[in-house]
Amino acid sequence: AILNLEQFCRDLIDEMQFNAGPNYQIIFQQHGDCEHTYLDKKLLRHILVNLLTNAIKYSPEGGHIYLNIFCDHTEIKLQVQDNGIGIPEENQHHLFEPFQRAGNVGSIPGTGLGLTMVKKCLDLHGGEIVVNSQVGVGTTITLTFFRNVLNNCEVEN
Ligand code: ATP
Ligand code: MG
Repeated sequence: AILNLEQFCRDLIDEMQFNAGPNYQIIFQQHGDCEHTYLDKKLLRHILVNLLTNAIKYSPEGGHIYLNIFCDHTEIKLQVQDNGIGIPEENQHHLFEPFQRAGNVGSIPGTGLGLTMVKKCLDLHGGEIVVNSQVGVGTTITLTFFRNVLNNCEVEN
């Protein structure tokens, strides 16, 4: 079914902001026509909750977290950006394998499964994922979906 991605993201941000409390600010920015997409609601929710939860968890209090979406007639990009602890270069390539956590997580709790699941979901949608991160500066994770693939892989609800 057609999903209004922009509205979906606004609702999700409201919910995540409520849960995160006043110490974190989640900011939504959308570019292009994101009202008509063929994205599966449940998988999309799973993906975004995982990425936003990471962004909050790995950021100090006072952190700003951005959810950016970019839509044109061929692609849909979802980007989650934070100014948190970052991911060391040597750990960046293993994050999508189960139980892999970076060396700088300290006592921040986690099992190392979230991104593995995100990657699986993305594969179901024929999407791509790119991690950009620098220790002490922050992390940006960008997902790209291709509209022609989405139109052909609708998941039953
Ligand atoms: P969980 O299974 O509860 O999600 P987790 O957060 O440790 O546990 P992943 O979400 O798979 O597992 O993330 C894997 C690792 O990647 C994390 O342990 C952390 O080292 C690193 N990581 C992921 N997102 C971020 C981020 N936004 N900032 C810094 N490090 C991150
Ligand atoms: Mg996680």
